[in-house]
Amino acid sequence: MLFDTHVHLNAEQYNEDLEEVILRAQNEGVTNMVVVGFDRPTIQRAMELTERYEFIYACVGWHPVDAIDMTDEDLVWIEELASHPKVVAIGEMGLDYHWDKSPKEIQKEVFRKQIRLAKKVKLPIVIHNREATADIVEILAEERAEEVGGIMHCFSGSPEVARKCVEMNFYISLGGPVTFKNARKPKEVAAEIPLDKLLIETDCPYLAPHPYRGKRNEPGYVKLVAEEIAEIKGLTFAEVAEATTRNAKKCFAIN
Ligand SMILES: [Zn+2]
Repeated sequence: MLFDTHVHLNAEQYNEDLEEVILRAQNEGVTNMVVVGFDRPTIQRAMELTERYEFIYACVGWHPVDAIDMTDEDLVWIEELASHPKVVAIGEMGLDYHWDKSPKEIQKEVFRKQIRLAKKVKLPIVIHNREATADIVEILAEERAEEVGGIMHCFSGSPEVARKCVEMNFYISLGGPVTFKNARKPKEVAAEIPLDKLLIETDCPYLAPHPYRGKRNEPGYVKLVAEEIAEIKGLTFAEVAEATTRNAKKCFAIN
């Protein structure tokens, strides 16, 4: 059994063949996945998928790149959705300094508002970080995000930062990049962070693992991420699959 903790099956890249993609994932042993919505249309679509598939859960929030577009009504809507039994986390939220659509100050404000909302509804948070590690760690600490904890999604930082995040009650989720030959940091993180703090994800349709790098990603490929972690840690595939599934269920409070 495999738990893909971060998928975007709500993306238009799956409009043509969603059923087949899901079937392939099940054939590879994927038993659960969390579809992440990060604006109005993708949240709406994530909720539809939870209604249609028993093994699909949703994470709802607002992406930092689009922070400038988030209204108070959007935040109220996310809060309403949080009580839905299949909404298991708030996000993806965070900071993205790679793109400049939303000014940093607005990103930080929208990030803080969502952390406060997650604490109010008592759900874990899913963090998107691009080139903003120091500010993310500072805001998580200031907002006492450890009360809800959550996931550092597609973590690409150093083992030192990973350890700091674990201390703040966050799981470290590794994706396709851990399989890339030149990915030194994700491999170090896989080696050094204890298995009970690791999760696996695809972030599909993005970041396909080796040997599919550059192609459309899909949840079935999460198996390659688990295999790589097993190899790095000197464990069996079954041990990694079982532990990361258990961790994900604990994080999302899924029985
Ligand atoms: Zn994502």
